[in-house]
Amino acid sequence: MGKKSVKTELVTIRELDKDAAWIRRAGQILREGGLVAFPTETVYGLGGDALNPRSSQKIYEAKGRPSDNPLIVHICRREDLGTITSHIPEGAVKLAEKFWPGPLTMVLPRSDRVPRETTGGLDTVAVRMPDHKVALALIDAAGGYVAAPSANTSGKPSPTLAKYVMEDMDGRIEMILDGGPVGIGLESTIVDMTSEVPTILRPGYITQEMLEQTLGRVETDRALLSPDSGQPPRAPGMKYRHYAPAGELTVVSGQQDAVVEWINDRLRRRQAEGKRTGVICTEATKDRYLADRVKNAGKRDDEAEIARELYRILREFDDEQVEVIYSEAFDTAGMGQAVMNRLLKAAGYHVENV
Ligand code: AMP
Ligand code: MG
Repeated sequence: MGKKSVKTELVTIRELDKDAAWIRRAGQILREGGLVAFPTETVYGLGGDALNPRSSQKIYEAKGRPSDNPLIVHICRREDLGTITSHIPEGAVKLAEKFWPGPLTMVLPRSDRVPRETTGGLDTVAVRMPDHKVALALIDAAGGYVAAPSANTSGKPSPTLAKYVMEDMDGRIEMILDGGPVGIGLESTIVDMTSEVPTILRPGYITQEMLEQTLGRVETDRALLSPDSGQPPRAPGMKYRHYAPAGELTVVSGQQDAVVEWINDRLRRRQAEGKRTGVICTEATKDRYLADRVKNAGKRDDEAEIARELYRILREFDDEQVEVIYSEAFDTAGMGQAVMNRLLKAAGYHVENV
């Protein structure tokens, strides 16, 4: 973990026009090799100049992240894609037209302009154009290419509020731009455009069906579907335990009444052991649990709301020193796949089918 030495300035961006001087200042920090955290529509990002190898090293240090885990390069103009890639397949052009700016990251062949420090030693580069005015203005001010993983300490849930960035990054980076709560709350969908059939390496807001409408056939990395398949995931980051709360988290799947009953039974036992307990549930079940802390993630059919709440809830359990957590499963259509993917990773794939 990098040592704490810098003074971290927290700047609230209310109106882009009025706060343009701050954005220019933040851009200058990035051009000089410093780090600035900023809001995007998915989660807060920890930005450095993607074309400066030293900046990427600093990002790994600030996060305590293994340096074989590549960074996503953020751009603010579709045409800048050509600078950092050596070849753009037709499908990638179509996806950029359809989904950028937006929560879609494409893996493409890297050009020599992108240092290997940024791509974790790979010959490919992950690229995205975020749909957030502050992010786009900052990237432009920084010279166009900002490497940015999520702005959390490695292994913690991604930050959905600037205060969580401050908790993790105070003293490690030069500036945090506070743009309020993020809109989506889960990281971007990652699709590998270098394989014969485009392949989803990380599920997100943009679903397989949405990509198929533009591309035809799309696959999902098999390591994501069955984590015990023994295959390493093709997005190196997906192999690390991620998004983890400090407490022991179990996902409980099954018919609603059975789930409530099973969890309450466990809660009684764990409370008798003196453990502080928590539950992640939905509107329909929020009054039925005996846990010390019951967190309502929203209506079961509103998967966007559940996605937006999930990381905040996991972080709150840490703040409240909850030791044992049970979560209902959220295996709905559409974005439910992304929610479950993050939840299962947070739980270290500990699932009870009841
Ligand atoms: P984060 O920015 O923290 O959300 O993490 C970035 C994710 O993108 C990690 O899971 C990386 O492994 C993945 N990634 C970045 N670049 C590549 C690449 N060139 N090939 C495959 N996965 C990548
Ligand atoms: Mg991350």
